[in-house]
Amino acid sequence: MKLISQSEEIEDTIAIDGRELFDKGVCRIMAGPCAVESREQILFVAEKLADMGIKIFRAGAFKPRTNPYAFQGSQEQGLKWLEEVRYTYGMKIITETSDITNFDEVASVADIVQIGAKAMYDRSVLNAAGKLNKPVLMKRHFGATVDELFKMADYITLAGNRQIMFCERGIRTFETSSRFTLDLCGAAVIKRKTKAPLILDPSHSMGYSFGVPDVAKACAAFGCEGILIEVHHNPKEALCDREQALDLEEFAELYKTIKDIGKAVGKAVE
Ligand code: PEP
Ligand code: MN
Repeated sequence: MKLISQSEEIEDTIAIDGRELFDKGVCRIMAGPCAVESREQILFVAEKLADMGIKIFRAGAFKPRTNPYAFQGSQEQGLKWLEEVRYTYGMKIITETSDITNFDEVASVADIVQIGAKAMYDRSVLNAAGKLNKPVLMKRHFGATVDELFKMADYITLAGNRQIMFCERGIRTFETSSRFTLDLCGAAVIKRKTKAPLILDPSHSMGYSFGVPDVAKACAAFGCEGILIEVHHNPKEALCDREQALDLEEFAELYKTIKDIGKAVGKAVE
């Protein structure tokens, strides 16, 4: 069966406010902390990343944590700080919806709505995302096949939205020494089967900052349309995904290197 997400009807370029930010010639870096923790944290990291030339800032205000006792995000207040980032630094914002209860609030602030790995199977979220007239980044669940990812994406396309980006962020395998396993073979299948932008996430797949730069370099060489990278000004103190965050210096060095790698595969890494 031919899915809309695999057809000509799906968008291969994504524009935000009339400016094309994702297309086949670009590998767009989306960087920022896992979670919006405080106004100071978010504005500080955003300023440093904006100075480096990063155009899309990532951070979650609503965090779908496995542990109910862990920090759940700064929520509504966090969304206000993200608006401040856009206003102050002119960056576009990608932020995630954890479930339908915060979908509208998130969608009213986000330039790109991120559907987290755990929400990939949530049809109420997918239907709501389908009614939006803005891009969505759909993460592959760590237990989902590529085929399931495409089928679930058609809950979005059938509701009317054709602006989808697919993100491989690591699947669960027998290997436990990294947090997940980045499925580059699955990513190659996604790349072949849809013209929608492909995004790779070295941070959540690796799970440990020592390995994130190497995996990110492989992502840049892979030839994808975007990479999500978690960056925190003080990873040791991060309230969410502490072990995988790069600090600002580590990120700056990596960003320089992946620009060179991108050139080798015909991508402007920006
Ligand atoms: C995130 O991007 O911070 C996140 C929660 O990702 P995932 O849904 O892939 O776990
Ligand atoms: Mn995270």
